[in-house]
Amino acid sequence: MNRILLSNSNQIENLKFHLALFQNFTQYNYTFLPFRMLVSKFFISNSRFHLFRQWLRAKSTYLKIKPKKDGGERDTRHVQLLKSRGQHLLTNSRVLDAIVATSNINPEDTVLEIGPGTGNLTLKLLQVAKKVVAIEIDKRMVEIVGERAAQSGLQDRLNLICGDALKTEFPEFNLVVANIPYGISSPLLAKLVLGSNTNPFRSATLLLQKEFAKRLLANNGDSEFNRLAVNMKLLADVEFVMNVSKRDFVPCPKVDSSVVKIYPKIEIPNVDLNEWWAFTRTCFGKKNKTLGAIFKQKKKLMELMNLSRAEGLNRMHNEGDSDLSSSTSTSLSLFRERIISILESGEFLDKRPSKLCNDEFLRLLSLLNGAGIYFHDQGKQNGSCDSTFLASDDDLR
Ligand code: SAH
Repeated sequence: MNRILLSNSNQIENLKFHLALFQNFTQYNYTFLPFRMLVSKFFISNSRFHLFRQWLRAKSTYLKIKPKKDGGERDTRHVQLLKSRGQHLLTNSRVLDAIVATSNINPEDTVLEIGPGTGNLTLKLLQVAKKVVAIEIDKRMVEIVGERAAQSGLQDRLNLICGDALKTEFPEFNLVVANIPYGISSPLLAKLVLGSNTNPFRSATLLLQKEFAKRLLANNGDSEFNRLAVNMKLLADVEFVMNVSKRDFVPCPKVDSSVVKIYPKIEIPNVDLNEWWAFTRTCFGKKNKTLGAIFKQKKKLMELMNLSRAEGLNRMHNEGDSDLSSSTSTSLSLFRERIISILESGEFLDKRPSKLCNDEFLRLLSLLNGAGIYFHDQGKQNGSCDSTFLASDDDLR
């Protein structure tokens, strides 16, 4: 170690970080292979260190996993961490402890963890929860977590499922705590909060990409305010817990992270969710335009007129309404006038969606629906919520 020239705080942090990595694990030695080679073979200058780090980030990282000497045979394995699976392991014990502490886990809780990786968080959860359900897509990780749980004598509390968390039906749980793969943040959040009717849970403490967390936490008027936040606010309250540096992960990702806590709402507004998703998609479809400008676009008007006619037809047919012909023959300009007058009556015409709170969105949707204007084709399957709920273009780490 003393052959490394440490000339800036970044390097010192990095070294501390890897030393912590060596010390952190009692059951396994995790060795950051390229780093070790470097330590033993080269004298590193400042610029070479920088180049080396760049190279390291670009490459896949291998973990060398070998059980500690316990009389048994040595079984050394190299596990390649896959970027494609978002495999960035949280290795800072203080952060792991803070995540567990903020989750307020009771001894009676069954905790759901998505993507346990090598089990750093899982082991801590097992110590305080009644049960941990961990869903991991990578067989190699499943094996490692299983072995680590067995070595700490806590395997009876662990229900380890090898599968894709988006496709696997969740067993019962009442709390979620996880450092999830960031690539599936949107659909996973959708699955959790939309599923909270049938599988209610107290809260979900999640590590998310910092930018994604910011957008999730944004309020109307904030520059990050968007459809993701509006849709989330309908179903849950989100609380910021803390930021986590990218240096607390192995391998070091490109982005920082934040821990947030999500509390599903016990009572959600009485609104058709498919209609709501489609409505918020329209409102946030054009960045920073006024509602007047959004609803005056010819293409949008045509689309809404067709949907509203179809919807009007269905409803009138069911209700035996005789005013069918006038509704179906509404011309585009009449339809446009109708929408504008509704926006005016609610004082929405000059307002921008990015400034509206959820109650105002709900009021506007109710006004439009009340006038027979609909956003979702009611004849279509209702199963599209998951994919459209948190539509976002989040970067992956
Ligand atoms: N929670 C661990 C590891 C985080 S890395 C830690 O904090 O150290 C993300 C983990 O999620 C990886 O182990 C990866 O294999 C797993 N993963 C990726 N996609 C998944 C999916 N669709 N379902 C379940 N697990 C997944």
